[in-house]
Amino acid sequence: MAGINDKCIGCGTCSLMAPELFKMEGIPAQLIKQPTPEEKEQYDLARGACPADAIEEF
Ligand code: SF4
Repeated sequence: MAGINDKCIGCGTCSLMAPELFKMEGIPAQLIKQPTPEEKEQYDLARGACPADAIEEF
């Protein structure tokens, strides 16, 4: 499972890089759904680009 923790600073990078997965409606950003295997690369890129290390797996 993936989620966004309270380190999110609301920069919007994740929703720009993977709009099917992340949306900005306040802070923290929201994960719309868990990534499918086909979306995993896009998800990983967005996760890697998060400046606050706020997208986590648990
Ligand atoms: S990229 Fe990270 S810090 Fe920026 S909005 Fe998304 S979760 Fe928050």
